[in-house]
Parts: sequence; C-alpha cells; structure tokens
Amino acid sequence: MGLYGKIRCETAKISGKFAMNLVKLGKGMGKSFPGYLFLNIGTDNCLKELAKKPGIGSIIITGTNGKTTTTKLTSLLLANDTEISYNYDSNTINAIATGLLRDNIELGIFEYGIRDIIHAIPDKVCELIQPVGVVYTNVSREHTLVAGVQNPFNSYLKAKQLLSAPMKNGIVICNADDPRTAYIGKRKEADTHVTYYGLEIDMNDKSSNTDVYCPLCGEVLSYTIKYSNQRGIYSCNCGFKRPKPDIMLTELIKDFNEWTVKIEGNIYNYNHKKLIPFNLTIKTPVFGLYNLYNLLCAVTSYISFTPTPEKIENTIETISKTLDLSILPPGRFEIVKLNNKLIGMGQGDNGDALKANIQFMEDYIEDNFGFIYTTPDTGEDDIFEDHFNALLLSKPKKVYVVPGRTSIEAARKYYEEINKKLDAEFYPLAYEDMPKRRKEIIKLIHKSPYPYIIVTGCGPEHYMWAELKSELKKHIK
Ligand SMILES: [Zn+2]
Repeated sequence: MGLYGKIRCETAKISGKFAMNLVKLGKGMGKSFPGYLFLNIGTDNCLKELAKKPGIGSIIITGTNGKTTTTKLTSLLLANDTEISYNYDSNTINAIATGLLRDNIELGIFEYGIRDIIHAIPDKVCELIQPVGVVYTNVSREHTLVAGVQNPFNSYLKAKQLLSAPMKNGIVICNADDPRTAYIGKRKEADTHVTYYGLEIDMNDKSSNTDVYCPLCGEVLSYTIKYSNQRGIYSCNCGFKRPKPDIMLTELIKDFNEWTVKIEGNIYNYNHKKLIPFNLTIKTPVFGLYNLYNLLCAVTSYISFTPTPEKIENTIETISKTLDLSILPPGRFEIVKLNNKLIGMGQGDNGDALKANIQFMEDYIEDNFGFIYTTPDTGEDDIFEDHFNALLLSKPKKVYVVPGRTSIEAARKYYEEINKKLDAEFYPLAYEDMPKRRKEIIKLIHKSPYPYIIVTGCGPEHYMWAELKSELKKHIK
C-alpha cells in the first residue's frame, strides 16, 4: 500500500473512531455508523488492514434463525476469557467495521445476515475480513420476497455458503442436524477444519413431517429421527448423510423453572491446534429447543476459539449463572401464566420459528387450546404455506386470525385458507392502529374459552411483540 493509501486508511480510521465516540453519547445508529463512515472514506484495502487488528481474528455468525442469540452467548463466553469486540442485530459490513475499530482486541465476534446474493456480499465479506471462524446456526426459507424480487431457496442457500467459500484457514462450524448447514460443512472439509454440533437425545417430533430435500441431489431425505423441522438424523440414497457431531448435547432435563443440559465432545481449538475433550453440565432458563441449539452452537464456538481451554468449565459455570431470558431478542416466545390460563406468546416470522414456538408450548399443553395467528403480508404465500402446515399439525380448537403485517386483504386471503380446514375467525385489525391491534389481541385472550393459548406469527418485533407481551403481563394478578 502506497503512502497515499496509508494516509487514506488512517483518515478513515480516525473518522470512524471519532464517530464511535460521538455515538456513545447518543443512541440509535451507533452500531453501524462509525463503520459506515470508515468505509466511505477508506477503501476495501483499508478494511482488509483493519481486519488484521484482532490478535486471534474474527468470527462471523450467520444462519436463518438464532444468529443474534448465538452471537450474544458466544460473546458472553469468550469475553470471560479474553478481550473481544462484538456486534449483533445490525447485520451489515458497516457493523463489522464498527466492531473492528475498537482497540486492543483479541477476537471480533460478528453477526452477519444474508438474505440473498444480490443484497449481500458474503464472499467479499469473507475475503476482506479473513475470518478465523464462520459459524452456521441453520438454514430454512424466509423472506422469499426481498425488495420485490423473488428469492428462490437455492440461491439463498448458495449465498450462505459463499460466506465461508474463500476460507482456507480457520474453523467452519456447522449444525450436523440441519442438512443444509451440514452440506456447507461437507463441501468445506477439503479446504479447512469443520466442526459439527448436534443433539444426541431421545426425542422424535412426529409432527415435523414435511419433505426435506437433499441439498446434494434433490431427492427426498429419509429421517430416522426428527428433532424439529429439517433438523434430525437423515440420510439419502446418494450417500449424503448427517455427519457425526464432534460436540453433542446428550441430556436434557426439563423442570418448570429451569432446564439442565449435558454437553460433551472433543473439538479442535484454533489457538492450541489440538483437540480439547470436555463434559459439561449447564443450567439454562426455560427457553425452548431452539435456544438449546443456539447454546450448543455458542459453546462450540467458544471452545473452538478460547485462548485458555483450561478455563472452559469455570467460564461455563460463571456465565450460566448469569443467564436469563433477557439474553433473547425482545420478540422472543415466552410462556406466561395469566389467572387460570397459560399463554405462549412471541414472534414467529418464518415457518421454522413458528414451529419452534408451537413445540415449546406443546410441552405444557394438557387440554384444548386456542391459536391467535398473526399472518404474513402480500406476496409471502410460501411463508404462509409453512406456517399453515405447522398450524394444522398442532390441531388447535380454534384459530383467531389477525393481520401481522400491513395488508388486511392478504390476511383475509390467508384466513379463508385456514377456515377451510380449521375452525377460524377473522379480525381485520389495521397496522396503522397498532395499539388497537394489541388491545384486541389481549381481549381475544381473555374472551377465548380455552385454558391454553398460543399467540404467534408475523409482526414487527418491538412495536407489536415486545409491547404486546409487556401489556399482557400487566393483566397478571
Ligand atoms: Zn442425495
């Protein structure tokens, strides 16, 4: 890099850091603005240089669901052992650059969301940042219509794959139970180290019965066990099968207020270049199977990158003591006792997330239940299709259909589909009057004759779900 190039990168860095000090004073765009400024003044080469700052390197976490929770948990664990910088929830290269502007860090831990190839630059991000870890949570279909353009699942999967494609050094971490991330891992094994995590527990969700296609040959996969949706133990005639996990969740004990899990294995540590054996018992909040995957993924990332593997047990113990539901996003599905009803409520924007919410609540349902379903928007028919499938299999006594997004007409169309197969009612509540929509949903909960109620589907995380939950909790006597 010439003198001019160096000056340009220095100027970019100074401006970025200046912005970082400014945004500390205010709220809002703090997570990405300094990086935005840095990238506007500096070149790609400046980012490449900046990315060399962390002593160990950077870890990028991606997937359809669970990215934020996994990023937070991984950061909590690694921060106990070393100096880190992290960024979650912003999902852009600007946010990654912001995180890298921090001084004296050993590890950068960044969430990176990829919806499709056109709107993200996954392979470029990988080339510029040169991550030492790329971590996959899961891949299922979502946001099928991005900025008005159809986004077929294959190109979505391809975009996820590209994030680790240029990687030649470091560890790719994949969910063995999810055939799509396992496929990404299988393809990377020739280039670099791949670590797989998965469940080894006695559990078979018979209601996860939709066909899942082999990412290698396109045939229908056969499953001996299904944990949830596409996650399970699968194989295909072409030879593709679930890889054996290097780290496994082997025991799950569910109490009403607390869960206990056992995680064991023997996985490769990047800093020490050797396998680390471990056997851990972790107490967690009651947060659903979904978050167990996030926890397992975070523990895998932690053990892979901690510079002090001898501290693993202590760190896990220290951090698990501080864990509560506040680690999860504000729209998270929660179970609330309201007088003599049990209500499960929270966001479920895609089929996989909604299904996870139902599975979580099913542990508690012992009688008939009502389902308040908030619909997707216009043009989101395939999200509806996945939602409807999960809805049908859960067998609610009654479905109360409410628009989750803006279009009341789309919601009505979805309601008409539901009403053909289930007892359903439609409530055309406008997006523009969200306080009224929330109030009516709470009225429905009170009015419904069933002792168990699930409230889930689409809707804005803060404006609808977080508010709705806090308003509901005011009714607890
Ligand atoms: Zn196959």
